[in-house]
Amino acid sequence: MLRGYSCRMNKFILGSGINGLIAGYYLPGYTIIGKINHSQESAEFPLGPRFLHFNKHTAQLLCDLGLDDCNLKTLKIGYFYNGSLHDEVSEKLAIEYFKKTRGDHTTKFDSAMSGGKKSITVFKTTMQQLYDKLLKRVSNIVISNRLIDENVYAINEISKVLITESRARFSYKKLVSTIPANVFFRLIRSPIMAAQFETKEKVFVRSRKILDLEDYDYVYFPEANEIIHRLGNTDTGSQIIETDDFGYRALAYSQDKDIVIYGSIRLPNAQMTNKVDVIEPNDVKFIGRYACWNHSKKIGEVISDVKDLCN
Ligand SMILES: Cc1cc2nc3c(=O)[nH]c(=O)nc-3n(C[C@H](O)[C@H](O)[C@H](O)COP(=O)(O)OP(=O)(O)OC[C@H]3O[C@@H](n4cnc5c(N)ncnc54)[C@H](O)[C@@H]3O)c2cc1C
Repeated sequence: MLRGYSCRMNKFILGSGINGLIAGYYLPGYTIIGKINHSQESAEFPLGPRFLHFNKHTAQLLCDLGLDDCNLKTLKIGYFYNGSLHDEVSEKLAIEYFKKTRGDHTTKFDSAMSGGKKSITVFKTTMQQLYDKLLKRVSNIVISNRLIDENVYAINEISKVLITESRARFSYKKLVSTIPANVFFRLIRSPIMAAQFETKEKVFVRSRKILDLEDYDYVYFPEANEIIHRLGNTDTGSQIIETDDFGYRALAYSQDKDIVIYGSIRLPNAQMTNKVDVIEPNDVKFIGRYACWNHSKKIGEVISDVKDLCN
């Protein structure tokens, strides 16, 4: 065990992304293990539009953290096809978008491409603001040893021991995992299980403005021949292009002088391409989109799932 850590620590949350921090907030008896600032919300630039969808659990958490007086806003979603912006998208194009972003071999998720909606109602408080607030709380729990700022290296589910990257060993009674399911099953040395979870790399590119989005908050590009998946504005006037490796290369080597790239970030697990009914090992609970391998899991549902663990 790491020097300074108590042997009474036997309940752990794996991952310190927004979902790990939410779990840590509601489960005070648990220690979080995960490198701080390695999450999607702590990337060096915002990874496209991210919003807190309205539900009673999100409202309660924001209120408890003093973040929101339940201010909501409606976002307008656009679809770019046939060379112009539209309010609506056909089912045929929605399937084309799904295949372009996930591949041909899997059945379309209804939650992909914002469910093909024209608009959604969200909190004015962003996921980034919620993450920052929770992280401030975490600074306090680092001091009180409730967060171990390193990754898990291996888990032995028979002897119920987990080992961190610095080779510190902890016996556990309960684990709440928010890390991607394919990573978790590799940690417990279950390569056959790990191989079930299929992903496609997603590349986020911050660029000089390439298209006027008019009054749309963000825009999907469903046509197969368009290299962009989704486009959103940033506060600083640049735009975030969501694409894949092929699209990134096309942008990076483009001869078009209007395309100016400021930076790019690759996430290997962000685009899950299949659904899997995940079976949790004994004494392990999976929380969040990537741990449950369920694209429809949003923050509100995560809060509700964590609250269920408290009961
Ligand atoms: C383009 C896009 C848009 C999205 N928009 C929304 C939205 O509007 N609203 C919404 O609710 N959700 C949205 N999501 C889903 C969103 O990604 C999640 O809600 C949220 O970011 C997931 O947080 P997380 O903590 O589960 O994952 P992450 O932020 O990916 O965190 C996972 C953590 O696990 C850690 N980890 C990995 N391996 C280990 C290990 N071995 N040991 C310890 N830790 C490890 C990582 O370092 C990381 O910190 C979107 C996703 C994408 C890709």
